[in-house]
Amino acid sequence: MTSQNPIFIPGPTNIPEEMRKAVDMPTIDHRSPVFGRMLHPALEGVKKVLKSTQAQVFVFPSTGTGGWETAITNTLSPGDKVLAARNGMFSHRWIDMCQRHALDVTFVETPWGEGVPADRFEEILTADKGHEIRVVLATHNETATGVKSDIAAVRRALDAAKHPALLFVDGVSSIGSMDFRMDEWGVDIAVTGSQKGFMLPPGLAIVGFSPKAMEAVETARLPRTFFDIRDMATGYARNGYPYTPPVGLINGLNLSCERLLSEGLENVFARHNRIASGVRAAVGAWGLKLCAVRPELYSDSVSAIRVPEGFDANRIVSHALETYDMAFGTGLGEVAGKVFRIGHLGSLTDAMALSGISVAEMVMADLGLPIKLGSGVAAAQEHYRQTAAAAQKKAA
Ligand SMILES: *Cc1c(COP(=O)(O)O)cnc(C)c1O
Repeated sequence: MTSQNPIFIPGPTNIPEEMRKAVDMPTIDHRSPVFGRMLHPALEGVKKVLKSTQAQVFVFPSTGTGGWETAITNTLSPGDKVLAARNGMFSHRWIDMCQRHALDVTFVETPWGEGVPADRFEEILTADKGHEIRVVLATHNETATGVKSDIAAVRRALDAAKHPALLFVDGVSSIGSMDFRMDEWGVDIAVTGSQKGFMLPPGLAIVGFSPKAMEAVETARLPRTFFDIRDMATGYARNGYPYTPPVGLINGLNLSCERLLSEGLENVFARHNRIASGVRAAVGAWGLKLCAVRPELYSDSVSAIRVPEGFDANRIVSHALETYDMAFGTGLGEVAGKVFRIGHLGSLTDAMALSGISVAEMVMADLGLPIKLGSGVAAAQEHYRQTAAAAQKKAA
């Protein structure tokens, strides 16, 4: 087993050397000002990455799932009505979490491969004359299907229905790699984690609360202790946590924000789009289709690739690992066995992407799929060659 190959699961992502060093810290006194000097710039950095001037950012020792729980338990009460769409494994899990917290979830069953149905949301919100729906949940990037949803359209649906519900967005696999605009889209809670666009090890739930979400905290009655943002806010005011903070990860988060912001968010998004477009060119050359059903839904952070009917896509993932020491993502839930996933988010270059495309090709050929060696690589190379000069200029 080698650790030299880049990783192509859609998170955790490749960790740049400098980020690994930042996380690897000697123990410090986490109640001292030294910790405050890492914490506050990290929180400010996240705010900028969220494109927000008003959000309050909270970072918990947890993962994205803990971020979902932070969002709902701090703002809602048992029996509150929530509107969501189920179009992949992650939206499914957030809905399931709401139900287990005794929330009343109306969810729109949406084909896996489609995005959040903003038009259906508008109808449902318009019909909710009594404004009983408290929160609308949306998964910005469905990592299971490689589908990007239009969050601005969800905001327009809320506005068109003149509905006051809060908008909570799962941006775990989009924030820091695809365009995300918390303030402009009127997002009330943005949820992410450390191990995807931020290029860090897993271990942090990162959330931003809008002023409107902060108001909801005062009346929410769902039980919360570990994830209570009021305790966290009190801790931050004293340069600390209500418990022991994950100091190394916070140091890493500070550096990660610095790197993303100094590359420039628009350049980060353009880099992801360029790499993703190369992967999509390869998929086309293989004669395969993405799970995402239309180009405007294509995710720039992960591609879920449909395999021919009757072929078990999991074989690709296990063969790649056993034979070439390379990790791709399996299909989850309803698309298990039907797709395999190439994650292309975080710290990645065109050259790294080519290695993944090349191995995927070898694997499919080994397994007897009708793939011509070099076909996908050539298509991606063509795309990367054509776009290299412009990308270099932008980065400079
Ligand atoms: C990775 C991911 C999560 C969170 O998963 P954790 O394992 O809890 O970090 C949530 N939503 C999406 C869309 C994701 O990609």
